[in-house]
Amino acid sequence: MSFTVSPKDTVAMDASQAFAHIAASRPLPQPSPFARRLARLCDGADGSPQCYDELLASDQEFCRDLLRFAAGPLSREKEGPPALTLPMVAADLGRPAVASLATLFSLLRGNRHGKCRSFDYQRFWQKALARGAAARRLAMKDSEPGPLFFVYGALAAIGELALATAFPEEYCELLGRNLPPEKMPASEERLFGISSLDLTALLFEQWNLPTTVREALKEPSPQPGGRSPCRLTVKTHRILRLAEHIARICMLDLPLAATFLTVERLAEEERLGVEEFAALFDRIVLSWQAASDFFEIPSLSCPPYHRIKTMDDIGLAAENDREPLTLLLADDDPITLICLEKVLKAPHRRLLTARDGQEALALALEKRPQLLVTDWLMPGLSGIDLCKILRKTSVTQHTYIVVLTGRESDDELLKAFDAGADDYVTKPFNAKVLQARIASGERLLRSQRTIAHDRETIKRYAARLAASNRKLQSLAMSDFLTGLPNRRSALQRLKNLVAEVQRYDEPLSCLMIDIDHFKSINDSHGHDRGDRVLRHIARLLEEKARSYDMVSRWGGEEFLVISARSSAADAFQLAERLRRGVAAEDLAVDKGLRLRVTISIGVATWHPACRNAGELVKRADQALYRAKALGRNRVEAAS
Ligand code: GH3
Ligand code: MG
Ligand code: MG
Repeated sequence: MSFTVSPKDTVAMDASQAFAHIAASRPLPQPSPFARRLARLCDGADGSPQCYDELLASDQEFCRDLLRFAAGPLSREKEGPPALTLPMVAADLGRPAVASLATLFSLLRGNRHGKCRSFDYQRFWQKALARGAAARRLAMKDSEPGPLFFVYGALAAIGELALATAFPEEYCELLGRNLPPEKMPASEERLFGISSLDLTALLFEQWNLPTTVREALKEPSPQPGGRSPCRLTVKTHRILRLAEHIARICMLDLPLAATFLTVERLAEEERLGVEEFAALFDRIVLSWQAASDFFEIPSLSCPPYHRIKTMDDIGLAAENDREPLTLLLADDDPITLICLEKVLKAPHRRLLTARDGQEALALALEKRPQLLVTDWLMPGLSGIDLCKILRKTSVTQHTYIVVLTGRESDDELLKAFDAGADDYVTKPFNAKVLQARIASGERLLRSQRTIAHDRETIKRYAARLAASNRKLQSLAMSDFLTGLPNRRSALQRLKNLVAEVQRYDEPLSCLMIDIDHFKSINDSHGHDRGDRVLRHIARLLEEKARSYDMVSRWGGEEFLVISARSSAADAFQLAERLRRGVAAEDLAVDKGLRLRVTISIGVATWHPACRNAGELVKRADQALYRAKALGRNRVEAAS
């Protein structure tokens, strides 16, 4: 267990101070030095005279990636020929987009794994790319630059990765609590002095990403002087918010029902009707899959919007059988090609044709047909060479390949199978035989698809089961009324700490707290208001304790604070701070009803004579009894 002083403890710090503290003492995800320099140069923050083009050309790997990106479906927005050379691409995308892409590429390269056990790095990037793809489409609809918004979307939750990197153990524990998303920021602030959202904004600043997007990450509020936030900030905020919800649907983040409602309401704000939005969503999924391929992050399949909305997972798996298969037919003889098309045409197939090996290769790489029927002899690239290349390429290695051949000698056929063919049909082909062979290939492909789908469904169920188990676990350990850890959880923690104390001889204290005259609050104001007082006190104690003190509800109107590594004097001081803090606060219990309550506290510090955790609590209880007897609203320490 680590007891590092979190930034919050060194007096009240704001987010930027906490960030500076973390940045100085902990690892954080960082773009490559090249990407940082590029970003500084674009921002005008780097005074060095080094020419932009020269810097750009200095990172060959990035240049290759950028050219590939520019030629791919994630970048092409304009009609017309694609930009082919580096200067053209750079000019086409613009400097801010180039610098942002360099930032994203290098972060993606360096942060695919990490030490935080509960943090699913792969899922983080899958969702990031879905959010990026969504932000890109939404931005383009509003005539904003797509590639730039792709990066903003992809990095909009980078603060979560940063917490997993900086605090692997502590963040793991927090994730294990399985809090609802809206409760995360407050808990992150308590534990780390900063929420992941603020961390994202500050990292964006450090990486020289534009101010508008930093401000847009949160609900934009009026500027000092009452000016309303700039139009682009508001628009960016809207885009990122909708993109986040779209990404949740892509990832099938549960519960989906509420997400559908939110997403459709937000879409309506963008003046998108349900049909229009469904079409947009389906296009986003295509770009998401292109992005996954580009970054080599395993992609998740996502059915069309209307189908996800109405189907459960079992239905989704069955649906797979009706998805058409894509067949690529390659032959240099136009007549044969026409015959093949005629024989194989069917509603459940999508047919593509190529007139030679090179064209077939290009189509295979771009369209990923599940099945290829190829002639043996073709000018340029032969059917056999085509087989060999496809088998060696990750995206096409599972294509089912049927070779058409006029040669029948066993040796020649063996050569075809060696090259990776799955089957062959002799030329001139008999239509019935060809159909039967292709149908057999398709059966195999469909069963493979079903298996893959089932595996994914099982994985999702397992993830859901694990999540609900974690939730049950956390419910069993927390108090329903206040949300604090309950007595069982506190005792477990105390027992663990006692075991450590006996080994390492470190101080350990606990505070038993009881609200004074609580019965009279119930009697005068009712039980419900009494409950509200309990919640107020719980929150106050949590606020005023240090982040590594555990505040728990012991029962009724009693709370136990476990303060590890606190000596008797430290614990007494902490107790005084809590007592004074509560006594000074007007609790807003109801409309027009503010109450002041006081607490009494008994403090006990571990001593070998205590023997066990129960004994330590008993001593605190006895001290509390004394505090009550001596007039309440006071702290007493066990002798
Ligand atoms: P003292 O200063 O001696 O502690 O007086 P007290 O009135 O606080 O102590 P007492 O033990 O007589 O009363 C505790 C009261 O707390 C009685 C019980 O009804 C009330 N109580 C216990 N649990 C809850 C709860 O969950 N909600 C509410 N509203 N009241 C509770
Ligand atoms: Mg009481
Ligand atoms: Mg009591």
